Amino acid sequence: MDISTRRQLLEGVRRAHQADSAHTAAARARTRAARAAADARAHLSLAEASGLSAGELEVKRAAVAGLVLREQEARGKLCRTFTAARAANGALGALYAPHARGRATGGLTRSAVAAGILGELAATPRELVLAADAIVVSTSGGKDSLVCGQRVVTLATEAGCLDKVVLVHADLGEESEWPGVRELAQRQAERWGVRFLVVKAEGGLLGLVEKRGMWPDAARRLCTASLKREKIAPLFKQITDALSLDGQALVLSALGIRAAESPARARKTSLALDMRASNGRRMVLTWHPVLELTEADVWREIAGAALEYHPVYDALIPRLSCVFCVLAGREVLVRAARLCWALGLDLPRRYVALEEQIGHRFKQQVSIAEIVAEAARAEAEEGPLTWSRGDALRHHVGEEAAADYLRRLTPAA
Ligand code: SF4
Repeated sequence: MDISTRRQLLEGVRRAHQADSAHTAAARARTRAARAAADARAHLSLAEASGLSAGELEVKRAAVAGLVLREQEARGKLCRTFTAARAANGALGALYAPHARGRATGGLTRSAVAAGILGELAATPRELVLAADAIVVSTSGGKDSLVCGQRVVTLATEAGCLDKVVLVHADLGEESEWPGVRELAQRQAERWGVRFLVVKAEGGLLGLVEKRGMWPDAARRLCTASLKREKIAPLFKQITDALSLDGQALVLSALGIRAAESPARARKTSLALDMRASNGRRMVLTWHPVLELTEADVWREIAGAALEYHPVYDALIPRLSCVFCVLAGREVLVRAARLCWALGLDLPRRYVALEEQIGHRFKQQVSIAEIVAEAARAEAEEGPLTWSRGDALRHHVGEEAAADYLRRLTPAA
């Protein structure tokens, strides 16, 4: 199966999914409308029995008539969306039938068809990169994004289409992130020779928490959605518009996430169809080029290519996320507070003040005030944190690799 057939099939999957979603939404709307009409009829019967004035009854009858009309419209929409969903699924079936030979078809679902095609595309990344009209690499500036960017850039360079790549950074601001993250992401783009775009999340994590009056947590991880995903999503439209293609654009959206980071990430696949970001004008495929890598693999690639990483890793902070990430463990948070003091940052005090102001604990198991108190005790016992450039590599891949890295590291000007 060639790549354009795979694209057609994925588009068929997208349309069928969209049509089914519209039908599901129409079914819900119809249920609501039917319930509202039935309730209104019941109230009218009671009102008629209770001897209301003719004028009042007239108002109630008009309201019932309006709701009955709404129910009829909802029923009509339900029929139309049912027909559209059946047609879209039928079209997908017809499109897929000639290619089903040799593949398991017993009870094959739409998502299984999509998973098969996406798996085949992920296995041929060069073809994927060549077929893409634009490649958006999201970077936090952190180590996984760094290796993700390096892999994408290497592939695009070898395929002769580096001009398709754009590096996008969601800037959370100095109150959320470690200093120099944005600048580092920019230097990474300059080193690779790709366009660099920044989207700004005004207020950052603290602004979001202040507005909502509560800290996010693993179950309600609104911070990633509102500070990163939702800021980057409009770029897909802008990039597609700028391409001015007659047909549907293929946009690859590369993210540096790894399966080893969490059970949720372990369930991800190398390539996925982003239903929310895709439409008739663009198909957005979310690509995870470093999904299978371990933490040590990542550091080995950084060392091997002498990529510039953020210095907080040398203070053994494992992720370049928000300074105090709601998902980080206690030990990392304590270390982050001590690193703030070493760098002269006022963030621990500000986080404690915000926690007190909103009256909601930073994490269910531990408050940020407790973290900062624990950090102060450690500081009193051990003295301020110290670290040297290359410590992250010494820790993960050994002294020799670190020494070699430091000799070869030439950050872009
Ligand atoms: S780094 Fe942590 S706190 Fe910051 S946006 Fe991501 S999950 Fe939320």
